[in-house]
Amino acid sequence: MKLLCIGRNYTEHIKELGNQVPEDIVFFLKPDTALTRGGEDFYFPDFSSEVHYECELVVKIDKVGKCIPIEYAKDYYSQVGLGIDYTLRDVQSKYKAKGLPWTLAKGFDYSAPVSEFTDLKQLQKDIQDIHFTLVKNGVEVQNGHTACMIHTVDEIISYISRFITLKTGDLIFTGTPQGVGAIQKGDVLEAFLEGKSVLKQEIK
Ligand code: MG
Repeated sequence: MKLLCIGRNYTEHIKELGNQVPEDIVFFLKPDTALTRGGEDFYFPDFSSEVHYECELVVKIDKVGKCIPIEYAKDYYSQVGLGIDYTLRDVQSKYKAKGLPWTLAKGFDYSAPVSEFTDLKQLQKDIQDIHFTLVKNGVEVQNGHTACMIHTVDEIISYISRFITLKTGDLIFTGTPQGVGAIQKGDVLEAFLEGKSVLKQEIK
């Protein structure tokens, strides 16, 4: 399985990092070794001094698909969860400035904790009507709603599948809303999907 991650999908987050709104959907990959299934703590890596959290809605792909038309994209998923796209902002900035790939900043081991998945039917929600928040040390730092995505989940699935075949079990991180920030050892992050706690990590 693979982890596909969308960059720059919420306008206010693009502004907070001083980035430009991209013409096309921007995506990158994390290796499967980045994935953890929640419940584990996050160990601050010794190859960075500035690690940011990015809380994101994660969509699980249910079946193999290639060149999926937007109108059929809904047939390829039924469950969502929340994940944190941990990012080495210092490493990313260094490579971005040189125009080099920033795989290390995003793809290091354990950089993608993901919650258990919930059926959209059970949530009784359209995928573009989902509210999620991230709380750091008891204070809400990110408050996102999927209606604010620049590119919808169906557009993302259709776009990516033109180039890369989607397979059962693949996970798509759909971009982060505003409020990203640095973590320190001792911090506790907790993510809420529609008000329900689904993911909690201590930074060690
Ligand atoms: Mg992200």
